Amino acid sequence: MKNLELSRIFEQIARMLKIKGENLFKIRAYEKVALVLENLPIDIEIIYQQGGLNNIPGVGSAIAQKIEEFLTTGKLEYYEKLKETIPSGVIELLDISEVGPKTAKLLYEELGVDNMEKLENAIRQHQIKDLPGMGEKSETNILRGIELYKRRKERVLLGTALPLAEEIVESLHQLKETDKISFAGSLRRKKETIGDIDILITSQKPEKIMKTFTSLAQVREILAEGPTKSSVITEDDIHVDVRVVEPISFGAALQYFTGSKAHNIKLRELAVKRGLKINEYGVFDSETGQRIAGEKEEEVYRILDLPFIPPELREDRGEIEAAQENKLPRLVEYPQIKGDLHLHSEWSDGVNTIKQMAEAAKKRGYKYIAITDHSQSLKFAGGLTEERLREQVEEIQKLNQDLDDFTVLSGIEVDIKSDGRLDFSDEILSKLNVVIAAIHSGFKQESKMITERIIKAMQNRFVSIIAHPTGRLIGYRESYQVDINEMIKVAAETGTILEINAHPERLDLNDAYCRMAKDRGVQLAIETDAHSIDGLEFMNLGVDVARRGWLEEKDIVNTLPLGQLLKRLKNK
Ligand SMILES: [Zn+2]
Ligand SMILES: [Zn+2]
Repeated sequence: MKNLELSRIFEQIARMLKIKGENLFKIRAYEKVALVLENLPIDIEIIYQQGGLNNIPGVGSAIAQKIEEFLTTGKLEYYEKLKETIPSGVIELLDISEVGPKTAKLLYEELGVDNMEKLENAIRQHQIKDLPGMGEKSETNILRGIELYKRRKERVLLGTALPLAEEIVESLHQLKETDKISFAGSLRRKKETIGDIDILITSQKPEKIMKTFTSLAQVREILAEGPTKSSVITEDDIHVDVRVVEPISFGAALQYFTGSKAHNIKLRELAVKRGLKINEYGVFDSETGQRIAGEKEEEVYRILDLPFIPPELREDRGEIEAAQENKLPRLVEYPQIKGDLHLHSEWSDGVNTIKQMAEAAKKRGYKYIAITDHSQSLKFAGGLTEERLREQVEEIQKLNQDLDDFTVLSGIEVDIKSDGRLDFSDEILSKLNVVIAAIHSGFKQESKMITERIIKAMQNRFVSIIAHPTGRLIGYRESYQVDINEMIKVAAETGTILEINAHPERLDLNDAYCRMAKDRGVQLAIETDAHSIDGLEFMNLGVDVARRGWLEEKDIVNTLPLGQLLKRLKNK
């Protein structure tokens, strides 16, 4: 399949055009098609042979021609020419959050910076502050960006690690030699980023498991291959360990390797008080050394008179105490989610039609979605004018007449402008089912100002939800300086819902803030912010964050049936 290769090429083209300062619409067209190709479930060559290129969303005749050229000649002339003018190292600079296309161009043309190392040198020698439009602050900012970039390389996003781990577990699970299998570690606790993937297995034939594991298609490099434990690095640079354990120890090993360390220390202290010893092999009587439990994970908890504690809670944030008092939350679960309230369509910067989004959501078992495209001032994201928004509301009404047992709500992701005003008047907002307000500019404003912007939005009676409330992009951009306490307080006072944005790079609000919000009586909405039908699948990551934040079904508004949801949205 050439889908991914083509997607990368179009992505690179978009980045090169950005550095060259080309037309935004042209750049967006390439970005869009890169995204579509990345997620296309059908082989592009087959589509081409059947003459269907033009039916792919985002593919116009110019891009169709380029796809054809690449599929028939193995090369793309346009891309090759572009590459001659901009070295690949310069494009990589765009991976640093503080380096935009203009800066990359400037650094390259003025200082010959064409890779990360040269950039670091240039900063150290203070060559950057004297460039046009730059200053000492730019040097500090870029340096921070480089740090974030390096940190990001060490940790893997949950959204990247989880599907990979599930794939590997599935491949090994299919072996008849495999008995029990599970991944453990911070991945099982669903932390937002993880170090590496740990997989535990029981089997009578460990050699066979090791052999299959180390020869999986995803493996790039074998670090160690032993009789019961092997380590590899995958094609996407992720470290994976697989170990085979004795069946009588599986539960204890799973508990032990799932962690967290702090949780396990506390558990061991409880055990010691009862004359017991817990380790990765089982639970033992300290005096006699006799094995008491270990085959099942539940047993480890039961022996301490505790109910099973879900992995997402095992951070020593009061879960053991809650378990002792039988006060563990009944965590929200994916099947309880009834719809997705923050979605984009091709009307703004999404790639699919509203109908396609609705059908895909219905297939997932949802009862409703809201289409919340961008508002007018976000021109680079194809923000809707009043006129276009009215047309969209009409189209949604028509579409709903054809839908069976499913409802599309009309909405907007209205921009909170730099001065705190909303991008549309109340008169327009009042006509929509779902108004989400969000910040997309002025990220660097000081705390007081940015907090006031959000508070003002929450005080608007038509704004139901605040999207990506802290604005962070994991590994790319830190949160803006919003005063979380104040935001949660006003959310509670005004009945405003806060979003858990389920996009793997956002996961915003994070787990700790979710819990703070819940404790103060604020409700949340788990939303994918999907820009294509494939983006809908990130919902489970949002549910993971909610679970880590101790949230229950009643804390999440999109577990409500439609009628109750609409009431809740208006009830401010
Ligand atoms: Zn947004
Ligand atoms: Zn959005």
